[in-house]
Amino acid sequence: MKRNVYIFNPGPAVLPETVLESTSKAVLNFAGTNISIMEISHRSKEFDGLTNDTAERLRRIMDIPDSYKILFLQGGASLQFAMVPINLLGPDKVADYIDTGRWSTNAIKEAKKIGKVNIAASSKDQNYTRIPSPSEIKLSVDAAYCHITSNNTIYGTQWQTFPDSGESPLVADMSSDILSRKIKVSDFGIIYAGAQKNMGPSGVTVVIIRQDLANKAPEDTPTMLNYSTHVEKNSMFNTPPVLAIFAVHEVLKWIEDAGGIEKIEETNNKKAAAIYEILDSSDFYSGTAEPASRSKMNIPFRLPSEKLEQEFLSNATNQGFVGLKGHRSVGGIRASMYNALPLEGAERLAEFMLDFEKKHK
Ligand SMILES: *Cc1c(COP(=O)(O)O)cnc(C)c1O
Repeated sequence: MKRNVYIFNPGPAVLPETVLESTSKAVLNFAGTNISIMEISHRSKEFDGLTNDTAERLRRIMDIPDSYKILFLQGGASLQFAMVPINLLGPDKVADYIDTGRWSTNAIKEAKKIGKVNIAASSKDQNYTRIPSPSEIKLSVDAAYCHITSNNTIYGTQWQTFPDSGESPLVADMSSDILSRKIKVSDFGIIYAGAQKNMGPSGVTVVIIRQDLANKAPEDTPTMLNYSTHVEKNSMFNTPPVLAIFAVHEVLKWIEDAGGIEKIEETNNKKAAAIYEILDSSDFYSGTAEPASRSKMNIPFRLPSEKLEQEFLSNATNQGFVGLKGHRSVGGIRASMYNALPLEGAERLAEFMLDFEKKHK
């Protein structure tokens, strides 16, 4: 299987071809059982083995300490916006949130329904083109936790060094950059991510939670919204998204076969550099994020006019570059270059950009 398109979709996003192949095989016949992955019991030993192996691989790849549990939940990152405060924020507590864009804002909205929120810093005034610097962050005394969005998918900004939240646990929405770079899991209390950007298809959300934080929900918390339910039942309290978990397993296998996070990060750096070099050396293209806050996953940029942007997009589509339209709230172009986009995809896009500039300057 060799595709003639490069997929720059922001999410759901590109997946490795080997993952598409092995998943389609498992749809017909999972692990030699003659049963489809969609037909097999989630209580079977085959599926149980798969879930455990998926968690083990993630633990190895991210070097997750034993004191953390790995959960496979549903409801997307958006449900975590509610589950985090439901579990950790009592009505008399305050949570710090750093507002770096649309997804942070959505998380803040949910938390406010549960308890008190302190906006510890925000880059809203600068249209979210940057990540606040440490000196701007005003944390509360004794906060239940501090919440950040590690990569801002829409605005193309990314935390380069994570803030120090002191005694209160750091909670991170890593939906759009999990597994893209080396991070130290023990710096965080909770990491969560919808799978559909860097980890697999939509339908499963990975939650990495320090065990002591899983038992903090009030007694009357609905069962499905309590982290302890899923910790106790090893993500099998109810029927898990079996097909999505299978695909995540295959993505993790692909990462390990590729040489792990170090190799993935190295390639991501090269991919991002190929595009940023053009933005920095051109007066035709202009990047919208501040250089010190730039994302390696999502690169938004503008052309001199909206008319040229339209033409850029339609030429790009004709040449097999898919999904480059910027988010409807900000316009322009956005190149989302998640792990599974090959280096060649970024290099071809860079050539296309230079060529387009030459013809339209
Ligand atoms: C896409 C995205 C979300 C939304 O995820 P769902 O799984 O659709 O709820 C949340 N946060 C970030 C950073 C995202 O990129």
